Amino acid sequence: MTMTHQERMARKKEVIDARIAKATEERGVLILLKGNGKGKSSSAFGTMARAVGHGQRAAVVQFSKGRLETGEYKLFKDHPQIDWYVMGHGFTWETQDRDRDTEAAEKAWAKAQEILQDDQYGIVVFDEMSYMFKYKYLALEPVLQALQARPTMQHVIITGRVMPDGLVEIADTISSIRDEGHAFRKGVKAQAGIEY
Ligand code: ATP
Ligand code: MG
Repeated sequence: MTMTHQERMARKKEVIDARIAKATEERGVLILLKGNGKGKSSSAFGTMARAVGHGQRAAVVQFSKGRLETGEYKLFKDHPQIDWYVMGHGFTWETQDRDRDTEAAEKAWAKAQEILQDDQYGIVVFDEMSYMFKYKYLALEPVLQALQARPTMQHVIITGRVMPDGLVEIADTISSIRDEGHAFRKGVKAQAGIEY
């Protein structure tokens, strides 16, 4: 007995409706955006824009130097609902001066901690935070504790290629972006509006 397309779709709708009926909780979620493909930070800032559009306050802490003048920074830095912090000057994970980097990381984390205790922020982005654990600039345990103690309705998005297990264990939504090609390997240099 084969099902018609219509029957199959009706069955599918029943299953999905049942799932929707079961998801009744309202709370902030912890999202991890990981993997080697392009699209982690841009997805985080896209989601932040969505939340800001709904009237939420947002905070960003960028844990890497990267490019200081990204398009998203230029667009959002003066937005009345957005507070944007870039980790200390001159930080890079290739630096010669590990003490200075650790100090910069700790300052950025102090700011992040304040944000995680402030329920005026509906959405928070910790961009490239996973490198702090990879290179041991920050201890993981206090970060896990602060994330779990944050205001109930606060959403947090963390980006970075490789996520430590402890973060994976407490996250709600985890998306891994796979690299299946990149213009860079076709000889295209970083393009304004696409890469930064
Ligand atoms: P984006 O900010 O574009 O969303 P991302 O946050 O996923 O990228 P990062 O690891 O933070 O990726 O790297 C940011 C920069 O590196 C961007 O210029 C991006 O295009 C580039 N990039 C990301 N993935 C790759 C890759 N697999 N190969 C080459 N360049 C990449
Ligand atoms: Mg990124």
